[in-house]
Amino acid sequence: MSTIDSLPPLRDVIATHGLSARKSLGQNFLLDLNLTAKIARQAGDLTGCDVLEIGPGPGGLTRGLLAEGARHVLAIEKDPRCLPALAEIGAAYDGQLTVIEGDALEIDPLEHLTPPIRVAANLPYNVGTELLVRWLTPAQWPPFWQSLTLMFQREVAERIVATPGSKAYGRLALLAQWRADARIVLHLPPEAFTPPPKVSSAVVHLTALAEPRFPADPKILNRVVAAGFNQRRKMLRASLKGIAPDIEDRLQAAGIKPTERAEQVSLEAFCALAREVAKK
Ligand code: SAM
Repeated sequence: MSTIDSLPPLRDVIATHGLSARKSLGQNFLLDLNLTAKIARQAGDLTGCDVLEIGPGPGGLTRGLLAEGARHVLAIEKDPRCLPALAEIGAAYDGQLTVIEGDALEIDPLEHLTPPIRVAANLPYNVGTELLVRWLTPAQWPPFWQSLTLMFQREVAERIVATPGSKAYGRLALLAQWRADARIVLHLPPEAFTPPPKVSSAVVHLTALAEPRFPADPKILNRVVAAGFNQRRKMLRASLKGIAPDIEDRLQAAGIKPTERAEQVSLEAFCALAREVAKK
């Protein structure tokens, strides 16, 4: 099998550096460099881009990103055992890889990055969802990133791209789709990873829109959506009672039947409702 660079196969890297997978760090490694190159290609044209990678581990995806022409990769890894393996990659791609040891939830990487910036990661799922929500809710829009290419548990990936009327439709879909294009670009079975996780995975690619798809105040939209989906089985006139005393009128003004449930309401209609709620 041909490899994408002159570095050793990932199985050898793992053996040399004693990188037995740790469950506490959500370590399920990708060892097939053809697959990591394929994921890197889903991140778009990397030439001329800085790439922020979270959780590089032994560096399979890192090697894919560099081989695909990333100008610079900034990788944040919590497990210090991975650093020597990553240093070998840094030596092979002189000056193009910077590694920060630490928790991605605690580190602000922006001072090390120059736009345009893309983000790519195969992360533990809980950390991935938390970072995704942060990346989708920055203080200012457009955000620092052009695109996010992230591995998720398949069920979470489906929640990100879900449409109204489906069981997976909820806060995550609305948050992601309001200001980004989101699609599933790759499905991976458990056996793609070492060790295999219990569930299937999927790679989601999100591209930041220059402007929100429909105008709305982010805080009000978030409040309305949260209230609607916190009691998703209730009709909106009941679940949104706490938002405004005349919520039925405001729902109607937004073109939403007060008897509808949140899971039937489109993003456009939620944005219209947020604008109605913002009115005095
Ligand atoms: N990207 C590698 C790959 O595809 O083979 C490793 C993937 S493994 C699912 C997740 C990686 O994220 C591990 O290397 C783990 O140590 C690292 N990690 C876990 N929590 C982290 C955190 N909070 N911040 C940074 N890295 C983290």
